[in-house]
Amino acid sequence: MLFSDKSLTCKDCQKAFLFTAGEQDFYASKGLVHEPGRCPECRNRRKQQAIALNLPSVSAPGAIPPKLVDVSAVACAECGVETTVPFRPRLARPVYCKECYIKQKEAAAASAESAEVAVEAAPASTEAVVS
Ligand SMILES: [Zn+2]
Ligand SMILES: [Zn+2]
Repeated sequence: MLFSDKSLTCKDCQKAFLFTAGEQDFYASKGLVHEPGRCPECRNRRKQQAIALNLPSVSAPGAIPPKLVDVSAVACAECGVETTVPFRPRLARPVYCKECYIKQKEAAAASAESAEVAVEAAPASTEAVVS
């Protein structure tokens, strides 16, 4: 379907604005059959107002609402099951599902205990190595 630029009149400010062929194509691709009633400026202003009304708790610009915490789907490094984590996993660190995470934690606690014993048994001459 071919589109050509169309001149429309804004409902809000009564200014003539161009409903370009590109925009018409975009509207058609979104399944929107109605022409925009407002010029881009008025649409933008309304959008900003809607955002301001919907997010009254966000006072500082750029503040992240608590609900928008990253949730990433990852595969468990241990059993391969797909799980979600409330953070963006770092590439260097394996991510585990809840079960494996608990297992890993227990294993880590156990190895930390033995590491502590090893440190105590090691001779206290590590400072001399730093040059
Ligand atoms: Zn307008
Ligand atoms: Zn797992």
